[in-house]
Amino acid sequence: MPVAFRTWNPRIFYGIYRPDLVLNPMRYTTQFLLSAMAAEQFPAPGTPEIAFLGRSNVGKSSLLNELAGEKAAKVSSTPGRTRAINFFALLDPSQRAKLMFADLPGYGYAKISKSISAGWPAFIEPYLAIRSTLKLCVCLVDSNVPPQESDRQLIDWLRAAGRDFAVVATKVDRLSGNERTRNLGALKRGLGLDEILAVSAKTGYGVKDLWARIEAACELVS
Ligand code: GDP
Repeated sequence: MPVAFRTWNPRIFYGIYRPDLVLNPMRYTTQFLLSAMAAEQFPAPGTPEIAFLGRSNVGKSSLLNELAGEKAAKVSSTPGRTRAINFFALLDPSQRAKLMFADLPGYGYAKISKSISAGWPAFIEPYLAIRSTLKLCVCLVDSNVPPQESDRQLIDWLRAAGRDFAVVATKVDRLSGNERTRNLGALKRGLGLDEILAVSAKTGYGVKDLWARIEAACELVS
């Protein structure tokens, strides 16, 4: 086999020839589509979609940075876009959109009361309720913080709505082994979960497992 063939690396290839596109370890490139502030602005449903949810400061931008590249994290934290749903297409090496990420606004520290989206823009709840291509809700919780009522309410709401979801505990690099076991156990009990996925955007821990969960939900083979 020619040497160039054996050493061909899509990350380097795209890094050189498509500097505008960011290639993640799963070989998707990320393309920002739009920021929606109302249901009419959602992109036409097409490819399978993954929504990212969590309280402000949970580490959502940092994790998106790991999953979808710096561009996605930057777009979502741009003033004016933090209250929007930001949609990104993930393209395979032949530039076909394989899946979509929807980054939802972080919810506040206040309790979510009455409606799940009180304190959230009004279009969030319809998005979660009716979006036909939504395959998985990735719910982020901070592994350094005890179970929160607002997270519990969101998860209960997703259960009642019949939405598939994965709860992901962020920032596990800040915990020792014992603390990690204790905190993850408390989160599982407090949120009524059988399973919780531990990740660190700082070290990359768990990110591959999260990708596997995302691809399984979208029925994509990596
Ligand atoms: P967002 O508001 O949910 O988008 O949260 P950010 O991604 O902006 O993160 C909030 C804070 O947590 C920032 O100071 C980050 O540097 C920090 N942070 C996020 N992820 C991690 C992580 O995996 N490990 C550590 N140690 N800090 C993190």
